[in-house]
Amino acid sequence: MSERDLLMIPGPVEFDPEVMRALGAKTASHVSPEFIAVFGRALQRLREVCLAPSAQPFVVAGSGTWAMEMAVANLVEPGERALVVNTGYFSDRMATLLERYGAEVVQARATPGEVPDLTEVERLLAGGRFKLMTVTHVDTSTGVLTPAETLVRAAHRHGVLSVVDGVCATAGETFHQDAWGADVYLTASQKALGVPPGLALLSVSRRALDSWRARRTPVRSLYADFAEWLPIMEAYEAGRAAYFATPPVNLVYALDVSLGQLLREGMEARFARHRLMARAFRAAWRALGLRTLPVSESVAAHTLSALYFPEGVDAAWVGKVREQGVVLAGGLHPQLKARYFRVGHMNVVSPGDVLATVGAIERALAVAGHRFAPDSAVAAAQAALLPPG
Ligand SMILES: *Cc1c(COP(=O)(O)O)cnc(C)c1O
Repeated sequence: MSERDLLMIPGPVEFDPEVMRALGAKTASHVSPEFIAVFGRALQRLREVCLAPSAQPFVVAGSGTWAMEMAVANLVEPGERALVVNTGYFSDRMATLLERYGAEVVQARATPGEVPDLTEVERLLAGGRFKLMTVTHVDTSTGVLTPAETLVRAAHRHGVLSVVDGVCATAGETFHQDAWGADVYLTASQKALGVPPGLALLSVSRRALDSWRARRTPVRSLYADFAEWLPIMEAYEAGRAAYFATPPVNLVYALDVSLGQLLREGMEARFARHRLMARAFRAAWRALGLRTLPVSESVAAHTLSALYFPEGVDAAWVGKVREQGVVLAGGLHPQLKARYFRVGHMNVVSPGDVLATVGAIERALAVAGHRFAPDSAVAAAQAALLPPG
C-alpha cells in the first residue's frame, strides 16, 4: 500500500498525523509525573466521550476482543444466564466468550442484515432470569446498527445488566451511556476512536461494578480482573502512579491526543458528521445500483457500508479498487463472505475521502465492465455533501 492510498476499511482507519506523532514521542517511565498527567487526562476524556461521567473507565493493552473478554470475565459466573442480541460475526464471538466463561447463553437472532425482533427480546428479558444482555452496537460483519437505546432501556427495566460492544461505533454513532443506563460500553482504539490498534477500553457503570463486587467466585483471568485494574485506573485519575502491568505508554499518549481532538469537535457534531458522510455514501450506492446488506437505512450503520457485489464482480474486484488508490475490505459474515464488500467511514473521514472513495469505486466498476452513467455516483455524493439551500 502506498502512503497516499486511502484506508477505508472498518478498522484500522485513517489516523490524524498529530495522533501518529504521539506514537513516536520519547517513551517516559510509566510512573513519571508526565505520564501520570497524560493517562489521568485520557481517562477523564474517555468519560466525556462515552457521555458517562458516573461510569468507571478502564484502558488496557489489548484489542477489542480483549475488551469483550474483560466484560464477560468480570460480570459472568458459571451457570448464569446471558442473552445475546445477535446481529452477526461479533455477536457470535460474544456468545462464544460467554459460553467459555460458563454462562448459559440464549440468542435472539436475525437473518443477516436485520435486527432481531424487539418484542421477542422484550419477552425474553421479562421471563428469562438473565444476568446480562449483550448488544453489538454496529456489527462490522453486516453493517447493521442496532437500536441500542431501546435495548439498553429495556434491559434496565427488567433488572438485567447491559453490555454494549461499541468497537465499530464508539465516537461515531450516537451513544449516551449514563442517560440510557448502559452498564458496560466497550470499544477498541483503531476504529472511530482514531488511535492505532492496541488498546481495549471499557466504561463500566456503578451498577455493574456492584454486581462484580458481589461475585461468589473469583474472576478466572488475572489480566482481566477488575480487582487488579480498578486501583490502577483510580490512581492515575487521582494523579498517582500505580503498577499492575506496564501500560502501553505511547498508545496512551496517542489516545490522549485523539480524545482531545474528538472533544474539541464535540460529540454531537462528531455523530452528525458521521451521519452526513453515511448519507453521501448511501446516495452514491443508490446511483450505482449497489444493494446494501442492511435491509433498510433505519438499521444501517453510519460508520461503515456493507454492499453486495454487483452482477459479474467478485471478491477479486476489491483489488481493482486498491489499484485506484483506495483500500476496501472484503466480506466477513460466514454465510455471505464471498458475496459482499465493506467500506469503512469513520474517525477523520471527510467529504474529500467520500468523493475519492466513490470515484475509485466508479473507476474500478468501469474497469470490470459495469455500466452506469459516468460520474453519477460522485455527483450524487457531492449533492448530499453540499450545504443546504
Ligand atoms: C472490530 C470489532 C471487534 C474486534 O476487535 P479486535 O480489535 O479486532 O479484537 C469486536 N466487535 C466489533 C463490533 C468490531 O467491529
